[in-house]
Amino acid sequence: MQSFQFYNPTRLIFGRGAVERLPEFLGGIRRVLFLYGGGSIKRNGAYEDVTRVLKQAGVEWVEVSGVEPNPRVGTVRRAAAIAREARVEAVLAVGGGSVLDAAKGVAVAAVGEADIWDVVLGRATPEAALPVYAVLTLAATGSEMNKNSVLTNEATKEKYGWSSELVYPRASFLDPAYTLTVPKDQTVYGIVDMMSHIFEQYFHTVENTPVTDRLAEGLLRAIVEAAPKLVERLDDLALRETILLAGTVALNGTLSMGVQGDWATHNIEHAVSALFDIPHAAGLAILFPHWMRHVYRVRPERWANLATRVFGVDPAGKSVDDLALAAIERLEAFWQGLGAPARLREFGITEADVEAIVEKSLARRGPFGHFMTLDADDVRAIVRAAL
Ligand code: NAP
Ligand code: FE
Repeated sequence: MQSFQFYNPTRLIFGRGAVERLPEFLGGIRRVLFLYGGGSIKRNGAYEDVTRVLKQAGVEWVEVSGVEPNPRVGTVRRAAAIAREARVEAVLAVGGGSVLDAAKGVAVAAVGEADIWDVVLGRATPEAALPVYAVLTLAATGSEMNKNSVLTNEATKEKYGWSSELVYPRASFLDPAYTLTVPKDQTVYGIVDMMSHIFEQYFHTVENTPVTDRLAEGLLRAIVEAAPKLVERLDDLALRETILLAGTVALNGTLSMGVQGDWATHNIEHAVSALFDIPHAAGLAILFPHWMRHVYRVRPERWANLATRVFGVDPAGKSVDDLALAAIERLEAFWQGLGAPARLREFGITEADVEAIVEKSLARRGPFGHFMTLDADDVRAIVRAAL
């Protein structure tokens, strides 16, 4: 293992009726910015519950809606200006990862002098932020319990992640009942995203990591068992609950203890969704198997473990390479069986777009990826294979 420090200050309130407990964790906060997306929270009960609970507690709020999937920096700036003007003391995000990520941007932009895009690019370091509270309605990103945010600059067509310890949500409220209305496609995207987060941390080159290996494999198994049932029974609360917690644990720092994750596939995907505005996990479902085929030879035993320990492949008579390729095939079949897309061309992306994706993915920091460093030729090969 590598030496590490673990820090995660987010209080997680999980279960039916979790939102009722919101006032307990507000401290003296009397006025919040209530941030949400396109209106799904008005159909799953979250809006009604949150406004009732705030009213009962005597907390005032200013509403800002319209946070888009792949949230835009312009929306963050607009919400931050309203937050300043209204002198709110906290940001309350109600929705999916996009709303939470935008709320983290608003929390920083509403108090500091720096422009939020400079923060995203690392040209400015936030020194203060409003506290962030989150009511999550979609199992996917882990944003409810991490310090990360991904924002899109609509003017420059760039999409980058940034992080700050100041934006760990102070408290996140996860009621699986709110996720019952998530349609099949978004449910599948959420499952692909959380599995991808596990893979980004599982495929590393660090030796002696049995604890995080087994945690990751166990979490993957729980998802692999629940997900096919859930897509058949979207109204099953027990399955929703399982998937909701899985998404949180997948990216709350636990699986990164003592290892260095890869994150190359997320980087390529951010280039794709910056250019073509496709759902984050649609891009991941398409790209991940091709990244795996490109790099698995660095440490094929990692994929052999995935095959036998997660997908239950019988190792008898198979070489490590056979098992590694079997793992990748099983994963592709699993995701496609759930209904995830398999090809970039399903989103109108063609050979003519490859160079733009390659350039965009390398633009910020040059070659990337910790498991294997990818240069332009590597990215080109992966993207071409995914067309
Ligand atoms: P999302 O973009 O927040 O939401 C996708 C869609 O689902 C929206 O149209 C939303 O509608 C709808 N929705 C949300 N909850 C719903 C519900 N309960 N019922 C019905 N529809 C619902 O999806 P996400 O996958 O959670 O977030 C994706 C973003 O997070 C991407 O930008 C990705 O890059 C980023 N991300 C962040 C992290 C991180 O660690 N911070 C990690 C991975 C990815 P409304 O707009 O109407 O609410
Ligand atoms: Fe992700």
